[in-house]
Amino acid sequence: MTAQAWKSLRTKKYQLSLRLFLFLNLCSAFFSLLNPLYSVYSSTLPVVFLAAGSGLLLLWHWRFPQKKINILFISLAFGCLWAWHVGIKTLELPSNNTSYVMIALLTILFIGTISFSNNIRAFTLNALPIVITCLAVTHGEQWVRMLYCFALPLVGVSIHYIIQKRNDTFAQELMFQLIAERETLNDLSMLDPLTGLYNRRGLQHRLDTQLALNTEDHYVMLLDIDHFKAYNDHYGHMMGDKALIRVSAAIRNAVRSRDIVARYGGEEFMVVLPQSDAQSAMRTAERIRQQVYDLKIPHMFNESVATNVTISIGIAPLITDNVELALEKADRALYEAKHMGRNNILTSEALQPA
Ligand code: GH3
Ligand code: MG
Ligand code: MG
Repeated sequence: MTAQAWKSLRTKKYQLSLRLFLFLNLCSAFFSLLNPLYSVYSSTLPVVFLAAGSGLLLLWHWRFPQKKINILFISLAFGCLWAWHVGIKTLELPSNNTSYVMIALLTILFIGTISFSNNIRAFTLNALPIVITCLAVTHGEQWVRMLYCFALPLVGVSIHYIIQKRNDTFAQELMFQLIAERETLNDLSMLDPLTGLYNRRGLQHRLDTQLALNTEDHYVMLLDIDHFKAYNDHYGHMMGDKALIRVSAAIRNAVRSRDIVARYGGEEFMVVLPQSDAQSAMRTAERIRQQVYDLKIPHMFNESVATNVTISIGIAPLITDNVELALEKADRALYEAKHMGRNNILTSEALQPA
């Protein structure tokens, strides 16, 4: 989005300089038709071409702003037409009139400098034909002055080009940095800072992107640490946090990489098992329960369950993307698993219909 806006801004700038060039050429062509220098009324063919060409191109560009016109080709073509015009007109003037040639040269260089203020190639292509013609028709009489008149704006355009390039590079780097930072922030906003697991937002994002892609069977699990309030009360909140981190890692390690693990609430977790079946969901749940048990985090207040931290799990199938229904079922199964004595697993299919 940002990169696209940047690209379109650059294209607009390019097209704007072309419009300015056409407009200035149109004005100058009309000016030399209506008010020619030294009152030699010569409506030369090239100047008629210039007036008609720039007018038509301006109209075309205004009508189809999306269509690109090759700026280098236009600058060269217009430069050649002006050179042709000056060539014809010097022949018509009574004597070899250097001041006319100088004025014509300066006018064309002026148009090129304004229009292509930082486009070296376009400026040079536009200016070269007239510079060569002027040198030729005056037989090199004022060659130092003419070359100076050409070199001066060329240096200016080159400096502008370097400044513009630096600005562009800076802006581009800034833009890439912003995009990268935005992505990092976006990623961070989807993770739970304590456990590094997905938070609800991250979970929703994964569900939207991953489950939309396949239509096979999925399973969801809700997991809840047993008697965790008692753990916190006796061992302290810091120890509680440490236990949460270790349990989270154990859950993550017990599932496949494509399974989605999220911290659903305080000491509650949700696992989504895409492309799974009842048996493997049960096996996964058992693996999680065992691995949490095997952490052997001492918990002397896990009343009548064990002397270490344990977890209870409710499982439910996720049918036709109805996550809410699946969670409701898994929650009921979890509730029952707790009632059955904790450190337990129950599937919603094993429950009596509510
Ligand atoms: P049950 O076996 O029925 O699940 O009992 P429980 O004590 O685990 O259930 P309950 O939902 O009443 O207690 C959850 C406790 O989890 C409450 C709070 O002290 C603790 N807890 C929730 N979030 C955090 C956390 O981020 N850090 C810590 N240290 N403790 C938390
Ligand atoms: Mg609990
Ligand atoms: Mg709880």
